[in-house]
Amino acid sequence: MEAKEHVKCLIIGSGPAGYTAAIYAARADMKPVLYQGMQPGGQLTETTDVDNFPGYAEGINGTAMMVDLENQAKRFDTDVRTGWVTKVDFSGDKKLVEIEEGKHVLSADSVIISTGASAKWLGLESETRLRLNGGGVSACAVCDGFFYRGQEVAVVGAGDSACEEASYLAKLCTKVHMLVRRDEMRASKAMQHRVKGMDNIEIHYNTETVDILGAEQVEGARVINNVTTEESTLDVTGFFLAIGHKPNTDIFSGQVDLDAEGYIIAAKPGSSYTNAEGVFWSGDACDKTYRQAITAAGTGCMAALDAERWLAEKGLH
Ligand code: NDP
Repeated sequence: MEAKEHVKCLIIGSGPAGYTAAIYAARADMKPVLYQGMQPGGQLTETTDVDNFPGYAEGINGTAMMVDLENQAKRFDTDVRTGWVTKVDFSGDKKLVEIEEGKHVLSADSVIISTGASAKWLGLESETRLRLNGGGVSACAVCDGFFYRGQEVAVVGAGDSACEEASYLAKLCTKVHMLVRRDEMRASKAMQHRVKGMDNIEIHYNTETVDILGAEQVEGARVINNVTTEESTLDVTGFFLAIGHKPNTDIFSGQVDLDAEGYIIAAKPGSSYTNAEGVFWSGDACDKTYRQAITAAGTGCMAALDAERWLAEKGLH
C-alpha cells in the first residue's frame, strides 16, 4: 500500500465514539480526518428515540442525534468523509489505511478505531436470502416493523434487545412470537415483565429456528422445541433477529489484539491504548459490557485525549 496523503489523526467510524473522538481531536488542533464507514451515524440510526443520552431532556430521534454529533464535529473542522476502510497496516510508524479496495490510501500518525458492532444472524440460507432481498427478515424492528402492521411476526432472542424489539412490534402487529432457545430469558427482569405483560406476545421457550419459509417473502417459520424435538410452523410474515452483535473488527485482525469474539483487547486498563503503537480504541469495537451511546462517546473522548498525549510524547504534535 502506498499512501497518497498523510494525516495526524485518522478516525475510523461515525457512531457516538467516532464523532466524540473527532470533536476532541479537532479542538486539540489534531486536524482529524474521519471516515464514516458503511453505516454513517452507526447503530443509533436504526433506533427511534434515545431517552438516555444526557443533555436531551425530552429525548431525541437517534438519526437526528447523530446528525447533531456530525455537525458538532464539523463545527471544529473535522474532515468528515464518506467511504469505508478495507485494509490497514499498523506495523510502521506511519499507519497505512486503505479506503474501498484501493480507491485511496492514507498514512496516519495516530488512528482511533470507532467501528462499533453489527447485528448477528442465525446463518440460515433462507435468512440470508430473505434479508438481502428485503423479503421480511430484519435485525431492526424500529426500521422495518412498520411494514408488518396488522401482521404476525417472530422475534428471535431473549436478551434486552429482543424484549425491546418484541414490545415495539407488539404495538404494531397482531401477534409477536418470541423464540427463546433456553428455558429462561437473559433479559433484565424489568424487560421480561414488559414482554410478559403484553397480551399479544407469546413466548416460546426451548425453541429454535429450523428454517424461514417463503421464496421471495417470509411466509412462515419452521421451529423446533429442543426438549421434545417437536417441530411446528408459525404463520408469520416478518422475522426479526435480536441475538446480539459482532464487533466490526475483521479488518484489524493481525494488526491489533482481538479476543475470541473479535472485540479489541484494551492494552492498558483505564485507557484507550491498543497493543499497536499510536492506535487507540473507542466504543463497541472494544466494549462488550456497557455498549451504550454515552459510554461509546466517553471512550471516544478518552481515545482522542490519549492520542493527543501520545502524539505530543513522540514530538508529532
Ligand atoms: P445479548 O447478548 O444480551 O442477548 C442475546 C440473546 O440472543 C440471548 O438471549 C441469546 O440466548 C440469544 N441468542 C444468541 N444466539 C442465538 C441463536 N443462534 N439462536 C437463538 N438465540 C440466540 O444481546 P442484546 O443485544 O440483547 O443486548 C446486548 C447488551 O445491550 C446487553 O448488555 C443488554 O443489557 C444491553 N441492552 C440494553 C437495553 C436497555 O437497557 N434498554 C436495550 C438493549 C440492549 P442465550 O441467552 O441462550 O445465550
